[in-house]
Amino acid sequence: MTLIDGKAVSQKVLTECAEKLTRLAAQGRKPGLAVVLVGEDPASRAYVGSKVKTCAELGMHSRKIELKAATTQHELLAVVEELNYDPDIHGILVQSPPPPHIDETAIVRAIDPRKDVDGFHPVNVAGLALEDGAAFVPCTPLGCQRLLLEYSIPTEGARVVIIGRSMIVGKPLALLLMAKGRGGNATVTVAHSRCRDLPGVCREADILIAAIGRPGFVTSDFVKEGAVVIDVGINRVDDASAKNGYRIVGDVNFEEVAPKCSAITPVPGGVGPMTIAMLISNTLKAERLIHG
Ligand code: NAD
Repeated sequence: MTLIDGKAVSQKVLTECAEKLTRLAAQGRKPGLAVVLVGEDPASRAYVGSKVKTCAELGMHSRKIELKAATTQHELLAVVEELNYDPDIHGILVQSPPPPHIDETAIVRAIDPRKDVDGFHPVNVAGLALEDGAAFVPCTPLGCQRLLLEYSIPTEGARVVIIGRSMIVGKPLALLLMAKGRGGNATVTVAHSRCRDLPGVCREADILIAAIGRPGFVTSDFVKEGAVVIDVGINRVDDASAKNGYRIVGDVNFEEVAPKCSAITPVPGGVGPMTIAMLISNTLKAERLIHG
């Protein structure tokens, strides 16, 4: 059984990005990422912090914009608008979820699609469906595909089952893996909460991907002998023995499932680190598309 090391692959992606940044700097070009945080949610704060820290480590320009929880929709739209026109900023990310009084869909639609490095704007969603290489693909699905590529796990003709149909993970990942070309050409099934005989559907999979948000949901009866399992889930479970009282687990019951797999991602250290790496990679792409 191969343990898919997302930390190592993300480091490889970031090293490639650092090399590109050095080449661009020699030409006087400096890609920039703006990260907007509204409110005090500790998990969002941590995500934003690590994105900005990664930019700093790579010598990439970034702007962290922290807004109070009471920020109005109008004020947030004004911030996005300003960033759309900021020539030093090529990627814009508004950390999800915003406070409940904010209409997240309207905010995503206000971001210039050319700076939408999260790939959530309808123009980019359509671009992915149309297999337009210039479209931005959401970072977590892109990270999952990159892991499969790096470990030479063939997707062509493979039966892939994805559990979860969100616009952040499940749906874009399905489009990515069924698209023509390298890392695609798979036969994809998207399962969800209304799926009949979910374990039976999942047992068809050569590659099973869990993006559900339920700790340890995928047990050994979901998994065909020799399958590849990618665990996207990030769930906090109470753990009195841990320093902060909780630990992070995936959607897959790792101990039970791993012995049946040919390859599997751990949580943490699997898909998680890939998301930030692909965000940086998308920001370099945005700069390239804007400046040529
Ligand atoms: P979501 O809540 O938007 O979607 C969950 C999906 O799971 C839904 O489509 C739902 O139909 C499906 N589902 C729920 N219960 C089910 C059941 N009993 N049987 C079958 N399907 C069921 O979540 P999301 O944003 O897609 O995130 C999913 C998980 O991935 C979460 O744990 C999240 O934290 C994690 N995540 C990780 C990263 C990363 O960087 N690794 C990024 C995004 C999300």
